[in-house]
Amino acid sequence: MKYSDLASIYEALEKTSKRLEKTFIISKLLKKTKQEDIDKLVLLIQGRLFPLWDETKLGVSDRLVIKAISVATGISPVKVDDEWKTLGDLGLVAEKLVQKKSQATLFSKDLTADKVFNNLRKLPSIEGAGSVDQKIKVIAELLSSAKPLEARYVVRTVLEDLRVGVGTGSIRDALVWAFFDKKVKVNYNEQEKTIEPDNREEYNRLVEAVQHAFDLKADYGEVARMIMKKGEKAFGELVLEAGSPINVMLYQKAKDLEEAFERVGKPCAFEFKYDGFRMQIHKKVKNIKIFTRRLDEVTKQFPEVVEYVKKYVNAKEFILDSEAVGFDHKTGKYLAFQAISQRIKRKYNINQMAKNFPVEVNVFDVMSHEGKNMLKEPFKKRRAILEKIIKPHTKKLVLAKQLVTGDLKEAEKFYKAALKVGEEGVMAKNLEGIYKPGSRVGYGVKVKPVMESLDLVIVGAEWGTGKRSGWLTSYVLACRKHGKFLEIGKVGTGIKELEDQGVSFKELTKKLKPLIIKEEGKTVRIKPEIIIEVKYEEIQKSPTYASGYALRFPRFVRLREDKALSDVSDIKLVEDLYKGQK
Ligand code: ATP
Repeated sequence: MKYSDLASIYEALEKTSKRLEKTFIISKLLKKTKQEDIDKLVLLIQGRLFPLWDETKLGVSDRLVIKAISVATGISPVKVDDEWKTLGDLGLVAEKLVQKKSQATLFSKDLTADKVFNNLRKLPSIEGAGSVDQKIKVIAELLSSAKPLEARYVVRTVLEDLRVGVGTGSIRDALVWAFFDKKVKVNYNEQEKTIEPDNREEYNRLVEAVQHAFDLKADYGEVARMIMKKGEKAFGELVLEAGSPINVMLYQKAKDLEEAFERVGKPCAFEFKYDGFRMQIHKKVKNIKIFTRRLDEVTKQFPEVVEYVKKYVNAKEFILDSEAVGFDHKTGKYLAFQAISQRIKRKYNINQMAKNFPVEVNVFDVMSHEGKNMLKEPFKKRRAILEKIIKPHTKKLVLAKQLVTGDLKEAEKFYKAALKVGEEGVMAKNLEGIYKPGSRVGYGVKVKPVMESLDLVIVGAEWGTGKRSGWLTSYVLACRKHGKFLEIGKVGTGIKELEDQGVSFKELTKKLKPLIIKEEGKTVRIKPEIIIEVKYEEIQKSPTYASGYALRFPRFVRLREDKALSDVSDIKLVEDLYKGQK
């Protein structure tokens, strides 16, 4: 496929905010894609070069891209930088500057999607001396043969920020539209931008099957390839397998214990809600792998957990779900997530880190056991297996503390006990509930005593004055809407002036400074990357912010480095919380 065709599709996607129209555009593209290109194309359309479960990051900085644009166009890095300050998007900068250059020269060869994909995928493996120059060369080479519009998207793909607003839901639906067209005959009304399948029931069934396949594989590229090759037969083969990560099940929230009972039934299983981070543990024969909630592999970062799994889980093959909680190696006291979050990204001194910031693994679910898929088994059966295979060792690997009861008083006692030992609250789980990967279904709910909180991404800030000068302060926050980020308020409270008291302005400034995309006086725009949890007292309607809402008394709670941009709180949640207040 010519990359220029793909670039036009990106542009069409960028121009519409309507989800169905995006889905339609993607499905047309999928239909005319050849089998050998389909997995690459499905990744590219999401702006990815690696599937969701793959931890590889391109790791290309803005600075490096500026140099590559400069090499490709012959325009000095300072000028490229100036353009960036005005346009705020290096993709647009590349487009403009390539356009300028192209008036003087002719394009050599057509770029293909294949070439862009293959060349960019090489970037992470370029290491060692001279690697920066080599990376610049790879990108500059693509930009030299790119037409202006192509340059826009090459750069945005390199920066892992495509900005065309394609969500995984659109990809999923487009796969059904494209490959089961004969079966369900989807009628798309171009004028009204509405869709109506001839056979709604069949359509819903196929959407669910594709979603399920994705939940297991965490890669629409692979799902697409298999469907294209085998049609519906693929669904039977997209099976759960220890070694390849699956999306985890998420939980809903209940106001209090009574509501928890209403939602998950009586009796139900209450468990401590540990305040750590999610860890998915796989074992197949001797091979043990650990994944985060974002499905990044972190096996190397947690050597002690690998040992615990070997020693204290008595089975050959499994996938477990757990929460890892850090504790102080001297006092044994459990620590807040923040204190151990640094271990997740750690690349060196790993053993020292493991000693200083050890974790305890609290296992609470099992998705696969000795090759058997446990997803459809009731929770009480899954728990029984855990009890059978786990030999608990405090401060190493234990079972989540659990109480099965239908009695409110007992539940209250358990909840208080959880809070007393410093846990966040409790989970209440339906004893008959299945494990539904990737969904926030109500088979379990969390109950915690705090104010509401949202996970928001920082998109702007202000340079501080007086004793805060030199620091970025007053962070502009945004929630998510169809892959775009809409502002919802500013936060300055809760961040510390002194470094040893918690997350400080200095620390945030260090993280945010490299992400600045535009500066105007004291205000800066920031590339959405840093996600923080923010508490607030009330949500109000507001014309000031693009989301249409504002937060009253927002307060910084903590950094959420464990969350991806796709986890940023959705506008729908904001709306629901707003309505729920009344
Ligand atoms: P939160 O910010 O409240 O942790 P979340 O969006 O990360 O929420 P949810 O699925 O809403 O995730 O809430 C449950 C989270 O609590 C799980 O993702 C998991 O990391 C953690 N957890 C701690 N203890 C348990 C437990 N016993 N059972 C299930 N999840 C648990």
